[in-house]
Amino acid sequence: MFRQAKWDEPLIFELSKPGRIGFTLPEPIEDVDVQIPEGLRRKSLELPELSEPEIVKHYTRLSEMNYGVDSGIYPLGSCTMKYNPKINEEFANHPKVAFIHPYQDERTVQGALQIMWELEQWLKEITGMDRFTLQPAAGANGEFTGVMIIRAYHLDRGETQRTEMLVPDSAHGTNPASAAMAGFKVIEIPSNEQGMVDLEALENAVSERTAGIMLTNPNTLGIFEEDILEIAKIVHKAGGLLYYDGANLNGILGKIRPGDMGFDVVHINLHKTFSTPHGGGGPGAGPVGVKEHLVDYLPVPLVEFDGEKYYLNYDLPKSIGKVKEFYGNFAVLVRALTYLKMMGREGLREVAEVAVLNANYLTQKLKGTRGYELPHKELRKHEVVFSAEPMRKETGVKTLDVAKRLLDFGLHAPTIYFPLIVHEALMIEPTETVSKEELDAYVEALKKISEEAYTNPEIVKSAPHNTAVRRVDDVLAAKKPVITWRMYKELKEKGEVDY
Ligand SMILES: *Cc1c(COP(=O)(O)O)cnc(C)c1O
Repeated sequence: MFRQAKWDEPLIFELSKPGRIGFTLPEPIEDVDVQIPEGLRRKSLELPELSEPEIVKHYTRLSEMNYGVDSGIYPLGSCTMKYNPKINEEFANHPKVAFIHPYQDERTVQGALQIMWELEQWLKEITGMDRFTLQPAAGANGEFTGVMIIRAYHLDRGETQRTEMLVPDSAHGTNPASAAMAGFKVIEIPSNEQGMVDLEALENAVSERTAGIMLTNPNTLGIFEEDILEIAKIVHKAGGLLYYDGANLNGILGKIRPGDMGFDVVHINLHKTFSTPHGGGGPGAGPVGVKEHLVDYLPVPLVEFDGEKYYLNYDLPKSIGKVKEFYGNFAVLVRALTYLKMMGREGLREVAEVAVLNANYLTQKLKGTRGYELPHKELRKHEVVFSAEPMRKETGVKTLDVAKRLLDFGLHAPTIYFPLIVHEALMIEPTETVSKEELDAYVEALKKISEEAYTNPEIVKSAPHNTAVRRVDDVLAAKKPVITWRMYKELKEKGEVDY
């Protein structure tokens, strides 16, 4: 029988057997004693003793407990979990890229500066903005950078009364959080029946206290804010600025540009739209672009090109300062530029087309399935939000149960319970990198789960049944976190855990 890896797999230290060898350490460097002060020297080093095949099997087994973009469809709504092309890695790991140092003299890293400069040109063209900083390490870091720029702009003009940031109720949680961190009071703007910003509510909310509005378009329901030009007019007329949360750029890539919609500041998630690795604790990148009137406030340094050589420009007296060390996560920038160059202009347009097609194909196939309902408009961009509220009411099966049951089918769950304005939300974003067969299989699984909910709800409520980790008690996990193997062993010995 296939041995499914389990959460309590032995540690590599427990598998150790004295005398087994899997790796030979290099000869010690001569006169190492001279280089390392006595007090800092390690007296002993306990490494597990295993043969090479044992090590390979151990880690392969552990990897089988996980699920990633290389395992199958990963349709986490809003997260754009697209395939990460392997050629990105080839360039990011090239010795000329991997072995340079941020303190090197500019003359010796012209290639690296060129990479950053070229990436900026691509991003400017794609978004319709005038300048970019590549420094922020993630979307949320980009948001913070962007709202700090908005703050600096108003303060610089003596408009100290602009203390309010408008955020729609469909926004990602990082939007109000970033605004609050930058010192703004967050004003929530409700959505209308169609799932778009309520213009009347917006009119009523703007005032001389308005610093700006943070929007993503298409919004988190996957719906394009058709009134965006009107929204821009209302906010600008009140003296506020428009911030574009670029997490949903995949739905409009190469088609329309935030800069043309009236946005003054944008952030882009390279780890979403531009195929760099996402999640797992690895670094991301959230470049921030601005229109001409905000360039002075960008973080330092900016990469410049004088026609002959590339150089770093620290001469920005009004800069908000640094938001991350050096130039951001450089290896991520290399991956994104590789992707852009591989795709090209036409390829990027096709990304948006296929991402939108896939989301709408899935919507049409799943629509009408018992228990799932489609609130708001029918046509979507790159993602769709279903509600399993009817299923919960009729069978007691909740969205969380559906998500857990999907794991039994070997499929990753969608984003659930977000956006907050949809009850029992299932937010599905297939991206352009899944095949029709994968989409069909996903819809089939969701239909099968609906059937189960109405005939045998217990099997859904107690899912997952065949994963390495069964359903975790997330309340207990938050209140009494057991985060190391040693903690677990100690509690187990004392009889304080029953798993
Ligand atoms: C992912 C996301 C963010 C935040 O980006 P991070 O890189 O995760 O910090 C912001 N807004 C929306 C709509 C997102 O989907």
